[in-house]
Amino acid sequence: MKNSLSKAVPLPSITLNDIGGLSAEMKAEIKQTLAILKNPERSAEIGVKAPRGILLYGPPGTGKTLLAQAIAKELNATFFSASGSAFTELFVGVGASRVRSLFEQARKQKPAVIFIDEVDALAGRRKAHGGEEAERTLTELLVQLDGGHSNDDILFIAATNRKDMLDEAFLRPGRIDFSFLVPLPDTKGRREIIDIHIRGKKLADNVLSRLEDLAESTSGFSGAELSSLFETASRSAIRNERSVIEKSDLDYALDRTILGSTSRTLQDP
Ligand code: ATP
Repeated sequence: MKNSLSKAVPLPSITLNDIGGLSAEMKAEIKQTLAILKNPERSAEIGVKAPRGILLYGPPGTGKTLLAQAIAKELNATFFSASGSAFTELFVGVGASRVRSLFEQARKQKPAVIFIDEVDALAGRRKAHGGEEAERTLTELLVQLDGGHSNDDILFIAATNRKDMLDEAFLRPGRIDFSFLVPLPDTKGRREIIDIHIRGKKLADNVLSRLEDLAESTSGFSGAELSSLFETASRSAIRNERSVIEKSDLDYALDRTILGSTSRTLQDP
């Protein structure tokens, strides 16, 4: 139980090319950050400090976890992943000891990336956060993030949908050095994400010819929803004993996705 969070997670072979909808500026910033992290000594010579912590924030399903994985892969780092809610414990000291144990394990397997999703559950504003136990856990996280040289070759990546909820002490430079917004994709981004999720799938001509329209009409869809759209369409094709996704499969999948989201309607392209 104590160490259940502290296991390295095998990484899928993922690169920045598997993530659609990132702006050119963001890609450039991420590549620059990676270059610094890969050559910390050389960067130090010209007075650039390697970042210790990165925050990814934005709506659900936009690729924050994918991005953390791609960064870890690029750095050849061991990937430790946990959800912020796994540290919110009723028992005194358990949250803090889990935080400590996570960092201790990562220090044994450097280079390492520690990824904490839903970090607001762990690093929410102290006043709003409630309770001494939550405060103790957050304090332990701050202590671990301030680990100095013991954190060399460890990159901390946190993700949240609620940046506004985070404690200022957590966001301080040296703990979190960069924040990246990972927004819902625009039309061009959705087109890129569609291209990623049709890789390896056979599409009928009446689907291929609709992909531009699909990107235009799916305003408000996240990457996760676009991915699920093509998974649902694939399952529909299989159910109908076809190896090619037809327009009817895509229409079915669109209906399902839109029904699953009460606030959504398809836009006219
Ligand atoms: P949450 O905030 O809910 O944790 P997230 O931002 O971390 O979500 P991911 O877990 O990275 O989102 O995305 C879930 C899945 O959706 C991915 O595994 C991928 O299949 C698809 N996906 C999401 N965003 C993108 C994207 N930008 N490009 C390609 N695929 C995407």
